[in-house]
Amino acid sequence: MINDTIEYIESKREKLIEVADQIWEYAEIKNQEYRSSALLENVLEENGFNVEKGVAGLDTAFIGRWGGGKPVIAFLGEYDALPGLSQQACLTYKQPVVEGGAGHGCEHNALGTGALGAALAVKDYLEKNGVSGTVCYYGCPAEEGGAGKQVMARAGVFKDVDAAITWHPTDDNNIWSMNFLATKGGVFHFKGIPAAAPGQSVIGRSALEAVELMNVGANYLRGHVEPNCFINYAVLDAGGIAPNAIPPHASVTYLLRANTKVSVNQTFKRLIEVAKGAALMTGTTMTYEADFGTCELIPNRTLERILHKHLVEVGPTPFTQKDLDYAAELRKTLPPKAEEMTFSALRMLYGDVAETLIPQIKGKVINDVVYPYVPIEKSKFGSTDVCDVSWFTPVAQVTTACYAKDTPGHCWQVTTQGKAELCHNGMLNAAKVMALSGAELFSDPSALRAVREEFEKKTAGKVYPDSEPDTQD
Ligand SMILES: [Zn+2]
Repeated sequence: MINDTIEYIESKREKLIEVADQIWEYAEIKNQEYRSSALLENVLEENGFNVEKGVAGLDTAFIGRWGGGKPVIAFLGEYDALPGLSQQACLTYKQPVVEGGAGHGCEHNALGTGALGAALAVKDYLEKNGVSGTVCYYGCPAEEGGAGKQVMARAGVFKDVDAAITWHPTDDNNIWSMNFLATKGGVFHFKGIPAAAPGQSVIGRSALEAVELMNVGANYLRGHVEPNCFINYAVLDAGGIAPNAIPPHASVTYLLRANTKVSVNQTFKRLIEVAKGAALMTGTTMTYEADFGTCELIPNRTLERILHKHLVEVGPTPFTQKDLDYAAELRKTLPPKAEEMTFSALRMLYGDVAETLIPQIKGKVINDVVYPYVPIEKSKFGSTDVCDVSWFTPVAQVTTACYAKDTPGHCWQVTTQGKAELCHNGMLNAAKVMALSGAELFSDPSALRAVREEFEKKTAGKVYPDSEPDTQD
């Protein structure tokens, strides 16, 4: 099984790289991934998959299915780019393709294509070995700021899936066993009364003052929330540019993060009260639009262990001297304390294990270590809509080294490495790990049973905290 699966993915190397590079070039942002999703759909159809398009009311969400009946194993793919991160490939300096345009600053071009490779390989395995079941590819749009998987989860598309597997390109070879912070956000709009200042100040009401007071209130709120709750904001509209005109409109956007969705939702409710208070104090009116946000993860340790076993088998992403030279040059553009940031995150998440891990990677420009499997209860500072899927079906995520060590996420340095050989090889490694894990779930019913038992136990009596869309009171 191992050699066949690896050989199959290697036989698709050129095709998969071509798809990943093409999606990198399309660089389509959330819910606009028309060409990227069409490309992935076409490859699935060419390989005999039945493709259901436009699922959950999202034009660029789709499900490719091959086979029939149980079990149903899904690979989750993403393919959205990020606004403002346009960047030419394989450079060591910032040079956008399109000034202000979008770019794959999170390498979802590789993410979606790696998952595609895994789905094709498992289909090949089922076909050649006469194993029954359904292998699926879930095309999940708008991971960045759109929580596409949450929309899909609410529509019930994951309910029939027995287990889901995915990955993320990073700078290490690891299992994302840590939790992720739940999020909730929204834009608050204030409307005042326009007037000239100071002549008409007595009748004017300033929307900008309302935003300022809301921010003051939110900063005090910080002192009265659960640990690990983060409140961040940005003023979107300051209402004007001239001090002699009282701003009649102003808007501020907030993003809240906390350990659980229940906690973040509660804090968001209090933030709404703060906004109402700001409006009351200033004689303005307030409306808000809440975002979906994402949930915390319900980890599946059994599935994570399966992925880790196959990650050890496949090994770290292979690289050449050319990759090392490029990574070394590129790292010169990173913030001066980039490696220290990596180490402090490792210490925070891995505790004592970090102290044995750090000496193995210190000073390296490409991470060549497969991290030990550690089930981590703490949360990573990031968030992902994969967590929402974990409330409906067991899910686990592998990471492979696809860019130079210590490259931070969401920056031009990630975009530029997204067409490099290291990214291609990392993607193929991830496809291999995911395919081997998927094939194991089909071939060993006891493995899948153990995964399902953990899921049933952990979700018993739990209600998905985001089952209803947000409504304004
Ligand atoms: Zn991402």
